Amino acid sequence: MKLMTRYLLVAVAITAAFTNFIACGAQMYKASLTGDHQQPSEVQAANSADPSSPEFGLHAPSGWTSLPIIYKSDQGMAKVQLAALKAAMHTWEVATGKTLFTYAGVHTGNTGDSFPDLYSSLRDQINGQYLDANWKKTGKKAEVLATTIWNNPNNEYQLIDAADIHYNTENYFIANALQQSPIDQREIVDMQSLATHELGHFLGLAHVSEAYDNTSIMNPSIMIGTGLANRSLSVGDIERIQKIYGCLGTACNAQATARAILQAGLKVGLTEGPDQASH
Ligand SMILES: [Zn+2]
Repeated sequence: MKLMTRYLLVAVAITAAFTNFIACGAQMYKASLTGDHQQPSEVQAANSADPSSPEFGLHAPSGWTSLPIIYKSDQGMAKVQLAALKAAMHTWEVATGKTLFTYAGVHTGNTGDSFPDLYSSLRDQINGQYLDANWKKTGKKAEVLATTIWNNPNNEYQLIDAADIHYNTENYFIANALQQSPIDQREIVDMQSLATHELGHFLGLAHVSEAYDNTSIMNPSIMIGTGLANRSLSVGDIERIQKIYGCLGTACNAQATARAILQAGLKVGLTEGPDQASH
């Protein structure tokens, strides 16, 4: 019953934004997202899930050991996927007013499938954005869209010094869900929406339940399908990322920053016509 209630909350929010698409018969269902690291800490898990803790919503409250984070993309990544990834990174940069990421080009010779298991990609000193066409190898279920893995230096959960994101391209067509359609047997997943969520983990955010903040990009599941996307951040998301990295300039006003992200066109639907200003 609780799960059904959550589902309805999200469905109502999506319906408001995507009336056009539902009328077109878009199929939607929730798919899960996970983030984990090599040595899970019970302390961290307890703090990040407790709304009264100063570490609520954060798995690494001190964030990366140095910024900007230098990253590479999978050699199989399409232009549309890379553009979506960079747009998602820009969203988090707008949220803090800081440069968080630096692109170091294609990870030549490596895809997610080059690694023998999920965690070995952490050992190559490259922060990678990988496409995994052999998802079973990760040990994650097929319904998991992507997973972010990270390393805590000296087992200090507060800090991150390396991380990778693996996208499940075995079971999903990860692209621009507002402009593209499913191919073969795979449902379409919006790359920018998915990357915005995973980058939240990559930067140090934990999941936030729908019951606590149902517009958070860090809810543990998202709606997927043609025409379905959520590329924006809640005010709470902005406040939580600023707890880790601080803020500069106008970004420090979380309410105004959330509105700026919408107005900059990072929010869903702009290419399809719906007016987001009133939503
Ligand atoms: Zn997640």
